[in-house]
Amino acid sequence: MSESSKSIQVFKYRLYPSHVQEQNLYRVLDYARNLYNMALAERKYAYQLEGRKVTLADTEQLAKRYRATFCCEAILFSQTAQSVVKQVDLAYQSFFRRVKAGQKPGYPRFKGRNRFNSFEFKQFGNGAQLDGKRLKLFGIGRVSVRWHRPIAGTIKTVRILLQAGKWYASFTCAVPTPKPLPETGRVVGLDMGISALITTSDGEKVDNPSFYRAGHKKLRLLQRKLARAKRGSANRSQVLLAVQRHQERVANQRRDYLNKLIYALVQHFDGIALEDLSIRNMVRNKHLSKSILDSGWGYFADHLCGQAESAGRTVKFVDPRNTSKCCSNCGAVFQDFDLSTRWVTCACGLSLDRDHNAALNILRRAGWVTPVRLKTAPLPAPKGTGKRISASEATRL
Ligand SMILES: [Zn+2]
Repeated sequence: MSESSKSIQVFKYRLYPSHVQEQNLYRVLDYARNLYNMALAERKYAYQLEGRKVTLADTEQLAKRYRATFCCEAILFSQTAQSVVKQVDLAYQSFFRRVKAGQKPGYPRFKGRNRFNSFEFKQFGNGAQLDGKRLKLFGIGRVSVRWHRPIAGTIKTVRILLQAGKWYASFTCAVPTPKPLPETGRVVGLDMGISALITTSDGEKVDNPSFYRAGHKKLRLLQRKLARAKRGSANRSQVLLAVQRHQERVANQRRDYLNKLIYALVQHFDGIALEDLSIRNMVRNKHLSKSILDSGWGYFADHLCGQAESAGRTVKFVDPRNTSKCCSNCGAVFQDFDLSTRWVTCACGLSLDRDHNAALNILRRAGWVTPVRLKTAPLPAPKGTGKRISASEATRL
């Protein structure tokens, strides 16, 4: 199969290193971080002191000398060291690109212990390979892996990550591009909101799962605890770990939930329209609910686009202004309309749930009008849960 008919997919698995292996993983991370900082320093000071520009080839020489000088050739793989200096190079490239574009980027920074959490094997099979069910890493040995789902395609690279005190391997694989899904003849407009996560132009609602709010409440408590803890104390590092673990958990739950929703949407609709919230943010501002909506929206929009593309579906982003305030039937602007208005009525006879009306406006702005007002068809059950996400059941999720 040619490269063009393949796409890239990332598979991430939890690693369970032994105590010794874990000590060594920390050592690799430290060596890699020191090399990163050194390569950064070389660039910075060569330019400041001598006006000399350091090239990628120069830093690759540095990587070589570094491994020999610090006697870490047995643990820091040569290609991992190359990846590290390449990372510095990329940091500079993006810095200069943003300067050129007239932005004010931050200068590439030296990385402290908490700011450097991964290293890479850039050619799978070279320094990292599968050995039975384990992952054999250069200088570390055979690390056990929890293969919670089958890996697919050809593994290209693997990155070892430390997140919230846990180790992971993230495999980048070339997988065959899936065939586009058969057309369904249906399009949908989505209103993303605070009371309901989404309301479709068919009038269906998917509620915000309760763990969003519960999760954020607990996070606030933990962060307050963290703020009170004394800097550098053992207690503080424990609380910090608890914060990181909790953040990870909330993010996992949210991603999982959104992924199932995206899957269902892409299966059922040829075209999906939603508001471009990067504009709407300037219009609406709502404390906690806003942050939940925002963080969810970015992920939702990105992944919906990705999934839709590989399935041959269309996603359109529309101007969000006044989608709630206009009548979806005649276009009139409602008077006396504010956030507390949950039901809208119009002189033309329209009487509708506020978010349903907004979703219909979004659908119209995308240039799609459903030929026949379809009877509300519930979204299909997302794979794996066995539950239907319908208006009544979503409230219980
Ligand atoms: Zn009207």
